[in-house]
Amino acid sequence: MREVRTRFAPSPTGFLHVGGAYSALLDFAFARKNKGKFIVRIEDTDAKRYVEGAEEVIFEGLEWLGIKIDESPKIGGPFGPYRQSERCEIYQKYARELVKRGGAYYCFCSEEKLEKVRMEKVKIGLPPMYDKKCRFLPKEEAEKRAKKEKFVIRLKVPENEKIVVPEPIRGDIVFDSNTIDDQVLLKSDGFPTYHLAVVVDDHLMEITHAVRGEEWLPSAPKHFLLYRYFGWEPPLYFHAPTIRNPDRTKLSKRKGHTALSWYRQQGYLPEALINFLCLLGWSHPEGKEVFDLEEFIRFFDLKDLSPIGPIFDIRKLDWLNGVYLRKKTDDELLQLIKEFAPENAESTLINKTTPLIKERIAKLSDYPVIAGFFFREPEIRKELFEKNAKEELSAAVEVLEKIEDWNKENIEKSLQGLTKERGWQNGEFFMNFRVAITGSRVTPPITDSVEILGKEKTLKRLHNFLEP
Ligand code: GLU
Repeated sequence: MREVRTRFAPSPTGFLHVGGAYSALLDFAFARKNKGKFIVRIEDTDAKRYVEGAEEVIFEGLEWLGIKIDESPKIGGPFGPYRQSERCEIYQKYARELVKRGGAYYCFCSEEKLEKVRMEKVKIGLPPMYDKKCRFLPKEEAEKRAKKEKFVIRLKVPENEKIVVPEPIRGDIVFDSNTIDDQVLLKSDGFPTYHLAVVVDDHLMEITHAVRGEEWLPSAPKHFLLYRYFGWEPPLYFHAPTIRNPDRTKLSKRKGHTALSWYRQQGYLPEALINFLCLLGWSHPEGKEVFDLEEFIRFFDLKDLSPIGPIFDIRKLDWLNGVYLRKKTDDELLQLIKEFAPENAESTLINKTTPLIKERIAKLSDYPVIAGFFFREPEIRKELFEKNAKEELSAAVEVLEKIEDWNKENIEKSLQGLTKERGWQNGEFFMNFRVAITGSRVTPPITDSVEILGKEKTLKRLHNFLEP
């Protein structure tokens, strides 16, 4: 039995897509489950897409999620280099070998000529495929020209053949070879295309299983042809379904949040996000919704993945995040909240307010929204008040001023006593009180809140309202 080796092969485009993090999670979990290795390979051969610092973003994201890497460009390993831009000679060697074996050929067509061919095909309703002109050049002539002229190397796709791609979660998929282009494998600048690089690397790095996005499924026959021409055994490629918005459109920047870093900035906990991702295309055999990565690793198998596009329901993530936040001790939560508290917030005030909001926040960035009023005086918005606010709150000032021992019970007793004595409706009175203190109609319990806020600040806010 070969050691299980899985890999995540992101292109450094500037951010880690949640869909990418999802594939990485599946690869990682499967490797761990089988006591194998999880590799990260950086696919950076498309210089046009290169973004400074993008690699770091990927590693930071994986680390934050708790995905541990066994081999990568950062930590090295026995199959390096793990950055494709450092492996160009390897791809060039294999591309030339393929030409020798008759599985690929040199192509000398200029960009202008190719564009013309594509346009002509489109005009008559055909797919914009290469017309295979150079495929039929005599071998010696092609070799000779390759010494002097610019060339690309193209895959020789057989004609009139059914190419079968075994896909473990979808079954065999059959492609008609006549619909497959003679794909460029090596570009004229000596860089490989994804198709050549992925096959060579997955083979040389002894990858046994790989999860990648389903957008790669149409390219799979090209890869299987390459494996066949090289005489190599392909790994099992699992094509993870594209994550969708609740309206079934592809998760896009506009509708959902695609960058993993957004979730971190919003104060989602990594353990909640991991739990959420685990549930996307898989369900726990005992129907559990809340479980950790270790438990996922124990029960999960790649073959149980569903091929149906999972829905990214952020409300479910909010719920899960709340569950994980409430599992934290007050102290742990306090440390997390500190990063999200308003600037210059007094730490004693953060300490006191944390238990109060624990039950009320879905994510850490809710803290300044829900507890912001503790740190700054509210804006007075008349439209938020009920009737009789002036009369009620000036009476409230009088009774509150008399309280010597400022605690929730005494505050409650005084205010209740007041409403009873004057025959005011509690609901109306406390809404006015709440809005004057907080600037909002929805807040944590108001008497708890004013106890924390303190007598002086409470009275100051009431005065602000009464004498603006
Ligand atoms: N570099 C490819 C991407 O970022 C990887 C596809 C694969 O995993 O094979 O989409």
